[in-house]
Amino acid sequence: MTSREVLISGAGVAGPALAFWLTRAGFRVTVVERAAEPRAGGYKVDVRGAATTVLTRMGLHGEARAHDTGMRTTTYVSRSGRAIASLPASLLMGRRGDDLEIMRGDLGRILFDATSADADYRFGDAIAGLTDRPGGVEVTFASGHTGRFDIVVGADGLHSATRRHAFGDVAPHHLGAYIAIWSAPNELGIDREEVNYAEPGRLTFAYALGADRPARVGFVFASPELAYDRRDGAAQRRLVRDAMAGLGWRTADFAAALGSTPDFYFDSISQVDMPSWSSGRVVLLGDAGFCPSPASGQGTSLALTGAFVLAGELAKTDGEHPAAFAGYERAMRPYVAKNLAFGRKMVGDMVPGSRLAIAFRNYGMRTLRFHPRKEKVIDKVLAPLHEAANAIVI
Ligand SMILES: Cc1cc2nc3c(=O)[nH]c(=O)nc-3n(C[C@H](O)[C@H](O)[C@H](O)COP(=O)(O)OP(=O)(O)OC[C@H]3O[C@@H](n4cnc5c(N)ncnc54)[C@H](O)[C@@H]3O)c2cc1C
Repeated sequence: MTSREVLISGAGVAGPALAFWLTRAGFRVTVVERAAEPRAGGYKVDVRGAATTVLTRMGLHGEARAHDTGMRTTTYVSRSGRAIASLPASLLMGRRGDDLEIMRGDLGRILFDATSADADYRFGDAIAGLTDRPGGVEVTFASGHTGRFDIVVGADGLHSATRRHAFGDVAPHHLGAYIAIWSAPNELGIDREEVNYAEPGRLTFAYALGADRPARVGFVFASPELAYDRRDGAAQRRLVRDAMAGLGWRTADFAAALGSTPDFYFDSISQVDMPSWSSGRVVLLGDAGFCPSPASGQGTSLALTGAFVLAGELAKTDGEHPAAFAGYERAMRPYVAKNLAFGRKMVGDMVPGSRLAIAFRNYGMRTLRFHPRKEKVIDKVLAPLHEAANAIVI
């Protein structure tokens, strides 16, 4: 019983990375993506630890490195915009070895370009329904097309529809905050610099990859779970603008840009933690199965590494999906568990909850600069991240 025909739902990071390995192992791969084309832009993401080894094995690390954001400085400002502390980004990011930071859109394009000739990409479509039968999964697409596949992979992100089709409603676990990101004119003239401003439970940040490039603006706010329509972008923009009201620094200008920006991202900071990643012939990958949340900075790395492991198990078992899925779970579980735990721990640091916590953070940043062993201090603080990022052997 060999499974050779694979359908992947989602052409973000996990989907194309899996397509890369499966097509090279001789599987026929179809990737269905709801968006009309590969999604450009986005925010900056880290690729760390084991995932950098995966990128290297793909032969894509050099190209990804060439698109490194090259961020130079992280600055913390007061309500009036006065710099409280300014530190080299390389120090705060505590990169090790081949770790890199890249715009998610650049990484997505690199992965798409490396797979578009071998996998059959179908943009502007989605799985509308699937029935898992002994001989394969019968799939109906929103476009009306139908197909039969030996394996279906849900790589369709935090709110995965494939997960819903195969497992029923599994709500992501809300970690108590929301994040919005959009583009705004770079009126600050920042060049490879990130600027942060915090008030209790709210954080505004902006960065740009060049003084002549638009800024990416972000807003994070603590909140219990909110009821809103995930398809209603206008309502989400209103919600974000309301949450930003009264916040200092340039927040009002950034909020004004919200109305006209074409690239608005808004979501809860949530995790997906499933007791099992497969059901019959359907298997979950990346955020769809194990989203550690943006607070961890590890979602992209888990997606890349998970794709490598899942493809390896499918190739090793010649597509015997029960054995392959069991091997995938065995290899990935401890690594995923460490990263989920790290994400839960970090969410509080992302949005300081009180004036005292902000003052404490600002004091730490101001004095760190003059600390004779600052690299060692940061190394110690980031040790749990590096441990999580390397908690699997490739
Ligand atoms: C603000 C922010 C900062 C982040 N920073 C980092 C970081 O520093 N480091 C890091 O590792 N990670 C970071 N992440 C997380 C990272 O972006 C994700 O974990 C990563 O992209 C997961 O990849 P994925 O392919 O599983 O999901 P996604 O990248 O979400 O891709 C899913 C794809 O599926 C498509 N899709 C959705 N529904 C359907 C459907 N029904 N049918 C077909 N297609 C569908 C989507 O359009 C999308 O293209 C961050 C995330 C955010 C929001």
